[in-house]
Amino acid sequence: MTSTTSAGPIARHAVSRVQELAEGAFVLRIERNGLDFQPGQYISIGPTDDVNMREYSVYSPAEAPYLEVLVKEIETGAVSRRLRQLTPADSVTVHGPFGFFVIEPAQRTQKFVFIATGTGISPFHCLVTSYPELDYRVIHGVRHEYELYGHEVFAAERVVSCLTRDTTGTYHGRVTSHLRNSPIDTDALYYLCGNCDMIYEVFDILKDAGVPPENLFAEVYF
Ligand SMILES: Cc1cc2nc3c(=O)[nH]c(=O)nc-3n(C[C@H](O)[C@H](O)[C@H](O)COP(=O)(O)OP(=O)(O)OC[C@H]3O[C@@H](n4cnc5c(N)ncnc54)[C@H](O)[C@@H]3O)c2cc1C
Repeated sequence: MTSTTSAGPIARHAVSRVQELAEGAFVLRIERNGLDFQPGQYISIGPTDDVNMREYSVYSPAEAPYLEVLVKEIETGAVSRRLRQLTPADSVTVHGPFGFFVIEPAQRTQKFVFIATGTGISPFHCLVTSYPELDYRVIHGVRHEYELYGHEVFAAERVVSCLTRDTTGTYHGRVTSHLRNSPIDTDALYYLCGNCDMIYEVFDILKDAGVPPENLFAEVYF
C-alpha cells in the first residue's frame, strides 16, 4: 500500500534478500514497488514494526527491477542492526526518494571526481551503473581493502583506493592527504559523500586549489 505525505510517498516494500558484503556491511535488496528515483538520491527505510527510520542512498541502478541500499552495521545503532536481521519474510517502510545529489542531464558530459569514505561509495555505485557513459574518477577512503564495497562496477584505471590500515590500495593514507599530494583538476565537478570531517576538509582543499564552489556537491552521512 502506498500513501502520500507532503514529503513524498510512504510505502511498504517486501525484503528480497540481505547480502553480506564484508565484515559489518551488507546490501539490503527490497522490491521496487514502482518507486521512481534519480541516481544519487536517498530513501528513508525502517522495519515496519519500528517507528525509527534512517536515510540510505540508493545503491542499485535506476533501471534495476529492485531497490538496493548499502548499509554499514553500527553496533550500537537503532536501525542498521535491525535491517541486517531482516529476511525475505519481512518488509520495510520506505519514504522518499529525497535529495539533490544528482547529475542533471546537461552536466553528464562533464568530468566528475567522486570522493567517498566508507559506505559513502553507494550513490557513486548507483550513478556509474545508471550512467555508464560518465567520465569519472573515484577516490574512496576506507581502513581495510575488504571495505572497498562494490568496486567491481568501476573501471580499475578510474579508481584511487586510499587505505589507512592495509597497504594494498593505490594510496596508503587518507583521502585528504592523497588530494593534498595530487594535481587538482579545477574544471571537474566534485561530488563528496560520507562523514562530515572528510567533507569539510576536502571542501577546503579543493577551494584552496581553485575549484569554484559551484563545482562542489556534498552528501553528509554523519
Ligand atoms: C542523506 C543520508 C544518506 C545516508 N546513506 C547511507 C548509506 O547509504 N549507507 C549507510 O550505511 N549509511 C547511510 N547514512 C547513515 C544512516 O542514515 C544512519 O545514520 C546509519 O545507518 C546509522 O543508523 P543507526 O540507527 O544504526 O544508528 P544510530 O542509532 O542512529 O546512531 C549510532 C551512531 O552511529 C554513527 N554513524 C552513522 N553512520 C555511520 C557510519 N556509516 N559509520 C560510522 N558511524 C556512523 C552516528 O553518528 C551515531 O553516533 C546516510 C545518512 C544520510 C543523512
